[in-house]
Amino acid sequence: MTKEISRRQFIGSAITTAAIASWPANRLFAGQAPAVPESGSQPKTAPAFGQNIAWQDQGIQNLTKSPHAKLRNIPVHAVTISSGFWSQRRDINVAKSIPSMHDLLEANGRMNNFRRLVGKSSAAQSGPVYSDSDVYKWTEAAGFALQSGDLPQLRATTDKMIKEVVAVQEPNGYLNTYYQDDRKSERMLTQTQTTGHELYNIGHMLQGAIAYYRATGDRTLLDAGIRFANDFLMSTYGPAPKQAIVSGHPEIELALIELYRITGDKRQLDLAGYILAGDERLHLPERRTIYMFSGTPFTARTKLEGHAVRAMYACCGATDYYMETGDPAYWKTLNTLWNDMTTTKMYVTGGVGSRSDGEAFGNAYELPNDRAYGESCAAIGNMMWNWRMLAATGDAKFTDVIERALYNGINSGMSLDGTLYCYRNPLAFDPSTGEKIRNPWYDTTCCPPNLERTFASLPGYFYSTSRDGIYLHLYDNSELDWHLENGVGLKVTQKTNYPWDGMIEVAVTPAEPSNFTFYLRVPGWADHAEVAVNGQAATGAKPGEYLAISRRWSPGDVIRLKLEMPVQVLQANPQVADDAGRVAVQRGPLVYCLEELDQPAGVVMSDLAVALGQKPQAQFQTEMKNDLLGGVVVLRHTGVAYERAASRKALYSRYGGGQAPSRRVPLTFIPYYAWSNREETSMQVWTPVVTA
Ligand SMILES: [Zn+2]
Repeated sequence: MTKEISRRQFIGSAITTAAIASWPANRLFAGQAPAVPESGSQPKTAPAFGQNIAWQDQGIQNLTKSPHAKLRNIPVHAVTISSGFWSQRRDINVAKSIPSMHDLLEANGRMNNFRRLVGKSSAAQSGPVYSDSDVYKWTEAAGFALQSGDLPQLRATTDKMIKEVVAVQEPNGYLNTYYQDDRKSERMLTQTQTTGHELYNIGHMLQGAIAYYRATGDRTLLDAGIRFANDFLMSTYGPAPKQAIVSGHPEIELALIELYRITGDKRQLDLAGYILAGDERLHLPERRTIYMFSGTPFTARTKLEGHAVRAMYACCGATDYYMETGDPAYWKTLNTLWNDMTTTKMYVTGGVGSRSDGEAFGNAYELPNDRAYGESCAAIGNMMWNWRMLAATGDAKFTDVIERALYNGINSGMSLDGTLYCYRNPLAFDPSTGEKIRNPWYDTTCCPPNLERTFASLPGYFYSTSRDGIYLHLYDNSELDWHLENGVGLKVTQKTNYPWDGMIEVAVTPAEPSNFTFYLRVPGWADHAEVAVNGQAATGAKPGEYLAISRRWSPGDVIRLKLEMPVQVLQANPQVADDAGRVAVQRGPLVYCLEELDQPAGVVMSDLAVALGQKPQAQFQTEMKNDLLGGVVVLRHTGVAYERAASRKALYSRYGGGQAPSRRVPLTFIPYYAWSNREETSMQVWTPVVTA
């Protein structure tokens, strides 16, 4: 193994990027995959700009050579999240979610789809066209889990699955269990490209392969993905005289660019760019290109519309393309779309996609609560896109969206016991419709493994490095053991009870006294923040920005950040008709909701309303409940709330009178992410307001 790494490092330092780009990647890296490194044997390589770094030190994204990225990822293994908010979720993800999803993939025939093609199963093909992607997304979750530490059983299970996957790859590089065998003639037809998810599947295969490679050094799946991209795809599809190509469901774009960051093969970047530019030879109907968010030039788009997950993944790919090329037209469009989303189309939970019809973005301010689609995958796509926008800029406004989506619209997607998942994440729910909101399995099971890969990759989102220092993005008890880009070793230890309170102690321990800038995030929701370094107040902390603390850092230095965390009562823009006359409640990064079973007996949720005075935030008390929902701070509303008996009122009646509230009731709010973990019951985020 040591030999393998040093040979690769030698190649990396001896040959220019341009020269590497002209070599077929599978030839450059030919040879046996190295075994998992013994703990402690990993080379300590700082991710300096332009440098080749070893597989195990590549982050969620390897931006070390991306000329237009301001920030670079740290590897997932560099951060250990210790006991705190996210550790519960992550432990359950590895102990329950990932293993149970593996069993469900088996039980629902996802692996038999592979086995049948090599005569090892007599089962018929089962599941929709994107069934292979379920396996690949699960592989990515396993890959990220293995980046945090050795898990022999998971490693063995994943190795076995990967062997079964690559066994069905055709000599020309093609691999897709739906379009092999009897459906071979439909392969890559225009109709199949737009609806058949062939390239979507391969995009997820590449992402899974990359995460597994970065965990283990095993290139089996990665090399299969490279064969598909290089041998099958690029030989036949692309600019004329090659055949036309469209992604149908964007995903291949971001995957090809991350592949390029490993192989240095610029053809992979160029193909992603060609797909993003839209192949005009296909003459697809407009409703199709709107829905797919592909097939027309990305840079011609002016608003978010169509299928929300497709749009988010397309924006991810476009931001990746910008970070490699610096094309200003992409940057302009990305900012136009980001502004469109955050000013008119994003839920307070960070969820996106208002309409179940087409799983689509709605019009501006179309944000229904009960009918909200807010697919878990779309919130994840939103986080992934903002992670890329953050890397391009270092601007904390993107981190605010990441945090909002992560703590709320994503975190709600998985049950606290890690075995049930939301496909859609509504902001109001009435179980009398018969809908079951949390399920172990969906025939379109995109969301469950997507949630699993996100939680498994979480340590990689805590910090970034820049040429002048380090950025701290997310707060939780944790330890960073990594390096500055100048090579100086750096440990950062966070101690906090975040998000339940806003006190954070950050111990900064460089290997030797060193000048650099520590960029400390002050969340946009914080009205007031105090920062002290070794007890001395640091000025300039502004909500929604990183506070740049430039000094000579020495072992023993401690930053203390105090974020005031009052209950905040929010109103929506008056143009959001569904939120008219309603308020939402947020504390810190967490959006709260009312769930029926926390309210007094007999109260009907649709009858509840609060009367807000001059200082509505003062009408709440916080209470830590360690025995509730895994330990949460609940909010007790101590002001005036009423049961309005609206449910017993006539559909139409004369205006005036009759609005009088009937019964005063005490209300209890719980964090939105934890709803529907005790029983399926009524819930609402936006609470009606009455005049007392
Ligand atoms: Zn999904």
